[in-house]
Amino acid sequence: MNLSTPIIQLHKVGKALEGKLSRLGIHTVGDLLQYTPYRYEDYSNIAKIGELADGMQVTILGNIDIISSKRSPRKRTMLTEAVISDDSGTIRIVWFSQPFIKKVLNAGEKVYFSGKVKDSMYGMQMIAPTYDKVKDKAETGYTARIVPLYPLTAGVTHKQIRALLEQVIGLTEHMPDWIADDVRDRVDIMPYGEALRAIHFPKSDKELALAKKRFTFDELFILQLRATRIRAMHRLSSAIQIPFQKEHIQSFVSSLPFELTKDQKVAAWEIFQDLEKDIPMNRLLEGDVGSGKTVVAGMVAFQVLSHKQQVVIMAPTEILARQHFASFQELFAKKDIVIALIVQSEYAAVGIETIETQPKAGKKTKAGKKREVQDAIQKGTIDIIVGTHALLSDNIQFKQLGLVIVDEQHRFGVGQRKILKDKSGDPNTTPHFLSMTATPIPRSFALTVYGDLDISIIKSMPAGRKEIKTRLVDPHNRDKAYDFIRKQIQAGRQVFVICPLIQENEDEETGIAEEKKSVMAEYVKLSQDIFSDMRVSFVHGKLKAKEKDETMQAFDRGEIDILVSTSVVEVGVNIPNASVMMIEGADRFGLAQLHQFRGRVGRGDHQSYCFVFTDSDSEKAMERLQLFESTSDGFALAEHDLAIRGPGDVYGLTQSGMMKLRYASMQDVEIIQQAREIAQDIDLEQYPEMRKRVALFEEQVHLE
Ligand code: ADP
Ligand code: MG
Repeated sequence: MNLSTPIIQLHKVGKALEGKLSRLGIHTVGDLLQYTPYRYEDYSNIAKIGELADGMQVTILGNIDIISSKRSPRKRTMLTEAVISDDSGTIRIVWFSQPFIKKVLNAGEKVYFSGKVKDSMYGMQMIAPTYDKVKDKAETGYTARIVPLYPLTAGVTHKQIRALLEQVIGLTEHMPDWIADDVRDRVDIMPYGEALRAIHFPKSDKELALAKKRFTFDELFILQLRATRIRAMHRLSSAIQIPFQKEHIQSFVSSLPFELTKDQKVAAWEIFQDLEKDIPMNRLLEGDVGSGKTVVAGMVAFQVLSHKQQVVIMAPTEILARQHFASFQELFAKKDIVIALIVQSEYAAVGIETIETQPKAGKKTKAGKKREVQDAIQKGTIDIIVGTHALLSDNIQFKQLGLVIVDEQHRFGVGQRKILKDKSGDPNTTPHFLSMTATPIPRSFALTVYGDLDISIIKSMPAGRKEIKTRLVDPHNRDKAYDFIRKQIQAGRQVFVICPLIQENEDEETGIAEEKKSVMAEYVKLSQDIFSDMRVSFVHGKLKAKEKDETMQAFDRGEIDILVSTSVVEVGVNIPNASVMMIEGADRFGLAQLHQFRGRVGRGDHQSYCFVFTDSDSEKAMERLQLFESTSDGFALAEHDLAIRGPGDVYGLTQSGMMKLRYASMQDVEIIQQAREIAQDIDLEQYPEMRKRVALFEEQVHLE
């Protein structure tokens, strides 16, 4: 057996379990070992039954005095009850809908039970605790220790995962480490195999902490190695210098219907200075939704165009690409600039006669149109090319690509930059690169993740922007909120409703289903009960990209009043007519993410509102949401969350795919520092295993 052994070859894995495991992404023994717990419960504390109190999370060791099953009359489910005793007292244990328990556990047996103690009308009791019989094993598997919990979907149980892991965990002993010995010695971290063993079977808190530290280092080190590579690539390549032309830009600025904000001016100035250099710009432009990044991008593009260079603007989705296509047309109206749109379903161009008025224009085939746009790009007739990933396709070749602007696309990496460089029309230069995002990533953190990417931040909003009124709605006032929404729709506005992700988080071992509001449940509720006279629709992550895009476009056209969605709604999407953002289960989102949702309204002239709901009664959750209610500064919100949670949580990044940091967070200052120093110090070429690991990461990052 080795890491690539198919999972089916393990003991107790049949076709059915194989299928379920494959849905968790576990196909091989290696996958299984890398399927690490998402949290742990510490049941190493063994308590006397007589000392139990409500809310305690403990393990007890007791004798089963009685165990029996019966049908629960009200709930129509099978109820199994047991009475357990030790020398200090007795306690009642119940299981719902797990009739097999009675076959496994027998009166007279000595058993460990781990779970939460609840005070009830029957005195102290435990509901569906995990258990280990004393006679089975020298060591307990599920109780009386730190018990790992895995992210499972219906059909696979913790017991099964544990039983499989027990079969393979021995492999960790001779596992090669992708981090070379000399690097490992510099940071004092656990060898990979040892950390993997400890993450699944921690012997103590201390050991678990060391294992987590190792994986934290792994994540940050990979990011730093990658950042170092991107930087090196940039430093080595040269770019076309684009001198700043004052009059030219002044003419553009004076044609705008508004004054630029100070932050916009500063950002633009920083970018213009980069463009003058002979190494390619590598800059991130950050600014809240609506802060005016597009205008800055337009101004910069205008400068680059005047130098006879082409400009690419890339967006992650078709709808965003279309919106940019429209705003750039508006921005460059009457400026004699040709703009093309390239998305999967369409190639279009505006501003040149050849494409618009060819003789056969009416009957032009899609393929014909496509070829025409491609030709025009290659000839240099087209100045600005807006599009999605479709524009990375083989057939596009630029005449002279000078600037690439990438909007809200955190996955854009070495590979994609290289593709554009290779098509740029000049093998000796690399296009300047500007990335834009509305995600308020604090500078310190951006540096961590992106290495020494330069950053410009637009903090202030244009004057006169109406603040979005945010209310944390008390459950009693839910109906009032609905009434308000109804009035908004009657006045012609549109509404977003955001729900936490669809999740099958049923933990079969305990039988307790965690209730998550899903888009579908919310959609049914709103469309059938609350707003049955309105046009309600939905989007969620399980839909095909095309279906999502179609619904978004219908919403954009005003054909839908209420759109229920998960967090998949694109950050930059601009629906000026939407005036209400309603967020359910808000405690489950990071503050920065909530702020992004809020930014989807208030983009037109209408006063806009954000209603926040939660069923959480945790004090911390309430505090966070109250902060959200009272603060409109996205950076402040992001900093607040980053201090206590990982970036994955804060930005919902595991969903948006920006990066999957499971262990690292902003607090790991020291490790960040170490990882950066080492990454910059070593020559990656000398470390084939580490190089391979970084390449693999690059690949994963770009698989959409
Ligand atoms: P972002 O891309 O950062 O979300 P946009 O560039 O789309 O923001 O700008 C949002 C809106 O604000 C646009 O309608 C734009 O014309 C307008 N706008 C941009 N800058 C200013 C400004 N300085 N003053 C007033 N309105 C502005
Ligand atoms: Mg934008």
